[in-house]
Amino acid sequence: MIQRVCILGATGSVGASTLDVIALHPERFEVFALTAQQRVDELVQLCRRWRPRYAVLGSESQALAARTQLRDAGVRTEVLYGAQALCDVAAHPEVDSVMAAIVGAAGLAPCLAAARAGKRLMLANKEALVVGGGLFMETVRQGGATLLPIDSEHSAIFQCLPDDRRQWAERIDHIVLTASGGPFRARDPATLHSVTPEEAVAHPNWVMGRKISVDSATMMNKALEVIEARWLFELPPERIRVVLHPQSIIHSMVVCRDASVLAQLGTPDMKVPIAVGLAHPQRMASGASRLDFLSLSALSFEAVDPRRFPGLALAYDALGAAEGSTAVLNAANEVAVAAFLDRRIRFTDIHHLNADTVAAVLPARDEVSAIEGLLALDARARAWAAAAVERMSA
Ligand code: NDP
Ligand code: MG
Repeated sequence: MIQRVCILGATGSVGASTLDVIALHPERFEVFALTAQQRVDELVQLCRRWRPRYAVLGSESQALAARTQLRDAGVRTEVLYGAQALCDVAAHPEVDSVMAAIVGAAGLAPCLAAARAGKRLMLANKEALVVGGGLFMETVRQGGATLLPIDSEHSAIFQCLPDDRRQWAERIDHIVLTASGGPFRARDPATLHSVTPEEAVAHPNWVMGRKISVDSATMMNKALEVIEARWLFELPPERIRVVLHPQSIIHSMVVCRDASVLAQLGTPDMKVPIAVGLAHPQRMASGASRLDFLSLSALSFEAVDPRRFPGLALAYDALGAAEGSTAVLNAANEVAVAAFLDRRIRFTDIHHLNADTVAAVLPARDEVSAIEGLLALDARARAWAAAAVERMSA
């Protein structure tokens, strides 16, 4: 049976890799909907190539521009716009699978819509789980959705575990997420205050969107992934560890109760976890190059230096604090990264802003049980962090 796929965030890095994998298997997949926020021309190009039933953009004027271009090109894609349209295409009755590849908390509502509608939900958009946590997992359960991790570390853990989730708890002693260390793994921490956005987004092993690239440089990406793992694998934070592995060949590991370690290896290419998600429980070609063991250099491991990467501890602190604290941390980090990319604050200010926001914005108990509350909490944290950016950059 052909799988009809909706790709949220189609113009991004994960969106592009998803389409690359789908292109290898025209007999298995049909592109039903593609979404973007503001890159109109890129989305129009994708619609010309893939002819989806629906496309979604951020605003009405962008949708009008896309409609004109598509009509002139003879493409019959229906162009919608706005946050509700993202939810509508993700939950559309004719959609089988949703690739959640929007960046940031903006992806939470369409993820919940897909989960509620019982879709196969391939989750790259880790921020949605960091913000939504318990509500997200409960919605997946109630909707009968199939949640498939796409983040390479979580895909690795998933691949090392049996299909039957009920066996996970008794099998796992702890999991080890690997981190490359990003561009500043070996840099003198005393010089980090002066790094530029260009240096921060130049990741040694992966080509990714700008936000996650900065997160990799601060190690906030791994912090978000610890929180993501807490929900995906239902593990308490003390059973989620992080080790530096600069080569990014081992994508993560499960340490079993009997001390046996299961690891998943491969070239650092997102097409692999994407193909795993698209084909699950089968396997299919991903288009990624294969690992050549004979040309591999040594695989090495190091502890994470908390002076260089203070952000990682914020994940454990937030998981130990009131539910909703992870949503505050995520909101602060989104604001901080955007301000850093705009050259309004320094690289090292990102951590201070994150820590200060989590200390100042306390979630109320009733804010975490429904999306409205979570979005209000997210907005409150963003407002606090934005005001702090004003003070820092004044
Ligand atoms: P990109 O920045 O490359 O792409 C983001 C996509 O989301 C674009 O299509 C963008 O549209 C769209 N988008 C941005 N803001 C909004 C919004 N407010 N509402 C709706 N759509 C929006 O990101 P990546 O592909 O790198 O990352 C996507 C997600 O996957 C992130 O959560 C990231 O953490 C995760 N991830 C990424 C990996 C990677 O290798 N890139 C690896 C593992 C996880 P437009 O182009 O119009 O701006
Ligand atoms: Mg990752």
